[in-house]
Amino acid sequence: MTAFDLDQARASILAYSLRSMEYGLNFNTQGNISIRVPGEQERFLITPTDLEYDRMSPEDIVLVDARGEVVEGRHEPSSEVTVHLATYRRRPDAHAIVHTEPPYANVWGVIGEPIRGTLVNMVIYTKGEVPIMPFAQSNNAAFGDAMCDVMGDTNAVVWANHGLLTVGADLRQAFKTTVAVESAAKVQLGARAVTDSPIVLDYASLGFSDAL
Ligand SMILES: [Zn+2]
Repeated sequence: MTAFDLDQARASILAYSLRSMEYGLNFNTQGNISIRVPGEQERFLITPTDLEYDRMSPEDIVLVDARGEVVEGRHEPSSEVTVHLATYRRRPDAHAIVHTEPPYANVWGVIGEPIRGTLVNMVIYTKGEVPIMPFAQSNNAAFGDAMCDVMGDTNAVVWANHGLLTVGADLRQAFKTTVAVESAAKVQLGARAVTDSPIVLDYASLGFSDAL
């Protein structure tokens, strides 16, 4: 087994950040992405604060410790680093976190209504409907803890009047969950244009294993 390659991980975080813009999930400096670095010490790579993705290079991705202190990097970490760290504390199964501000997921956050588990492609990633975390300032650990209470054991949560956060076993999975949620949010909007009661799947009874 090869040693974990920090540079490769930085490049991957940047690639997914750029993809989040291509997919219309983020604009300008919106959103942030992090991963848990494998190893004995608790270390995390996270996008820096206030830097546009298309002007970012892999070296701009910041290495932080469990308190959010910079271990390696020339920038401050994202202002929501404490939310990421709270999530990693609460969810040992999470090895990557993707925060975006996608328009269709945000529609439901603004309305204050969960994104229901209507699409099988979403529920296999999210493990159920996507709940809504009420609006609050998101630059502190208390927000992260409250958000984890709302998210429970599922893999996605909408932040009302703000955006979406997903967790995954790796970055690819967390990103795919984000895309699946945004797609389902769009379908739900269309479905609700014609009915108040779209058909909702019951994730627990679908019989999917935890492993994708
Ligand atoms: Zn945000």
